[in-house]
Amino acid sequence: MSIFTKIIDGEIPCYKVAEDDNFIAFLDINPNAKGHTLVVPKKEVNKLFDLSKEEYLSLMDFSYRVAKALEKAVPCNRVGQSVIGLEVPHVHVHLIPLNAMADIQFHQKVKLSNDEFVGLAKSIADKFE
Ligand code: AMP
Repeated sequence: MSIFTKIIDGEIPCYKVAEDDNFIAFLDINPNAKGHTLVVPKKEVNKLFDLSKEEYLSLMDFSYRVAKALEKAVPCNRVGQSVIGLEVPHVHVHLIPLNAMADIQFHQKVKLSNDEFVGLAKSIADKFE
C-alpha cells in the first residue's frame, strides 16, 4: 500500500485542497515552493501511462481545476505541472507555483510551519470550483 493510499484512507494526515470520488489533492509535505500541490488518483496505480486514456484525461481535468484554484490563491508567474513518481510509486501530478526555473527542479525546498500549510490549503480549497 502506498503512502498516498494511506492518506486517501485517512490513516495518515494531509493538508487537503480538494477531493471527489476519484481524486484527491493535497499539499506536498516537502514543497519546492509555497502552494506546491499533488493531485492523486484514489486508485493506486504506479506509473502515469499505466492509467487508461480515460483515467489519464480525468486526472488532467481534475488537475486543471486545482491549478486554476492555485493560480488564484498563490501569486506567481505561472503554475507548472510535472509528473515524476520516482519516490512514491502511486501516480501524482505536481502543481507548482513558479517564479524561477529553480522552482521546478526539486533541489531547492521551502520550509513551512503547520500554520502556513493550513492557511495555504484553505486558501486554495476556497478557490476550487
Ligand atoms: P516523486 O515520486 O519523485 O514525484 O516525489 C514524491 C513527492 O511526494 C515528493 O515531492 C514528496 O515531498 C511528496 N510526499 C511524500 N510523502 C508525502 C506525504 N506524506 N504528504 C505529502 N507529500 C508527500
